Amino acid sequence: MALAQLRREVNGHVLLPEDRGYDDARTVWNSMVDRRPAMIVRCADPSAVAAAIRFADAEGLEIGVRCGGHSVAGMSVPDGGLMLDLTPMAAVRVDPDQRRAWVQGGALLGALDRATQPYGLATPAGNVSHTGVGGLTLGGGMGWLARMHGLTCDNVTRFDLVTADGERLSATESVNPDLFWGLRGGGGNFGVVTEFEFRLHHTGTEALVLDLYYHPQDAVPALRLWRDLIPHAPREATFTAWVGTAGAWPFLPPALHHRSLVSVGLVWIGDPDDGRDQLAAVRAAAPPAVERVRPMSYLDLQTMDDTQEGHYQRRYWKGHYLRALSDDAIDAFVGRGVPAGADDDVALLPAASLQAYGGAIAELGSDDTAFSHRDVFVEFVASAAWTDPTEDERRIAAARRYGAAVEPFASGAYVNALTDEGAQGVRRAYGPAKLARLRELKRRYDPENLFHLNHNISPADA
Ligand code: FAD
Repeated sequence: MALAQLRREVNGHVLLPEDRGYDDARTVWNSMVDRRPAMIVRCADPSAVAAAIRFADAEGLEIGVRCGGHSVAGMSVPDGGLMLDLTPMAAVRVDPDQRRAWVQGGALLGALDRATQPYGLATPAGNVSHTGVGGLTLGGGMGWLARMHGLTCDNVTRFDLVTADGERLSATESVNPDLFWGLRGGGGNFGVVTEFEFRLHHTGTEALVLDLYYHPQDAVPALRLWRDLIPHAPREATFTAWVGTAGAWPFLPPALHHRSLVSVGLVWIGDPDDGRDQLAAVRAAAPPAVERVRPMSYLDLQTMDDTQEGHYQRRYWKGHYLRALSDDAIDAFVGRGVPAGADDDVALLPAASLQAYGGAIAELGSDDTAFSHRDVFVEFVASAAWTDPTEDERRIAAARRYGAAVEPFASGAYVNALTDEGAQGVRRAYGPAKLARLRELKRRYDPENLFHLNHNISPADA
């Protein structure tokens, strides 16, 4: 198919490097990603997706599929290939009576939350509203509602997709059930999802965030108690912890600005007064340097980290799943990967978070979905963010060092938190038996591995 024919066939726009809008369309969340596709097809409907896939296949162009553009490794941007940009397909439709939402494949999480919350409804989604529904859902989807209602992928009731041969299919519990299984955690390996149907839940519109801040030297007893409370926590509560370098944040006394700090706390969904009842227990180990208790709307909760986690910074992550959080693992978390006796500049160290799983996430069986590690206790993510390219090597090395310090306590990894781990990361995300089943599915739906710009499940045996 010639380019002129593609332009005629596609409902949307075909952008070449010289076209206005090309640079904006190739820009993704991580500023380290600076790749130049040969063309960007901005698809407005599923037939445009099918036409673009056929064109790329015929022309031998590598395909990248873009939804929110938040893959840390910039998986959606193919250098010299065809970027299939789903962002024009961003509509969300809600039926409050049926408690269903239909979400196009290029929508962002914020659009989903904004459409459901006027009815007091929601489906579990991630914590930053400019993340894409597409990538997040296909890899799993962890958020503040997951302990109550499961991961985002657990709440999909139907996927509509375009496969590698340009065919349009649906996948539900009863239609193409093999695909339905693989799309819930297997990433973008099996096709381009043009619409998700989600189950919605009555969640109300209120939330509460509790954060207790400690000097690192005082934090260990607080973290140990925090850990011990997790197995008994109500499902409305998702326990969180953080270590990092404080900014000049107005809620902190100036003496704590630019210092290393640790926080423990939780996010509560529902009546803030019920959430406040958790405070005394979390605080019992040691008095914090600063305590923050913030009742807020669910919509404000879902956007509270949008600026901190905003675009236009250079980024690098290392993530692990931990099935238990031993005292030694807590020490490694607080240590930020700095070798004993070293005196690293805290301004250049990565931050890290812990987020508790459990509840409804662990209620599905390990083989029920492609998503793996349902028995995880906490997820660890070390994240580095900076703007000066001359710091790249140092920042990345520090994040890798931190990841390596926590790895001895890890049981696997979350596919959506992988960065540049390649095939080894994919093995950690799924484990051998699950990976074999996923490869089988890949051979059925994408034997030529057309969709490989993702955490790739290769159709070939490893
Ligand atoms: P993209 O880069 O657009 O896509 C990521 C991958 O998915 C690519 O391989 C792409 O080809 C594929 N893909 C995307 N859409 C489709 C589609 N419709 N059909 C087929 N393939 C598709 N994860 C959580 O679970 N919970 C969180 O709270 C959370 N918070 C995050 C916050 C930030 C700031 C960031 C950067 C990431 C966060 N993540 C979180 C991780 C996130 O789930 C992954 O980065 C995810 O891949 C982002 O999806 P995207 O659509 O934005 O990215």
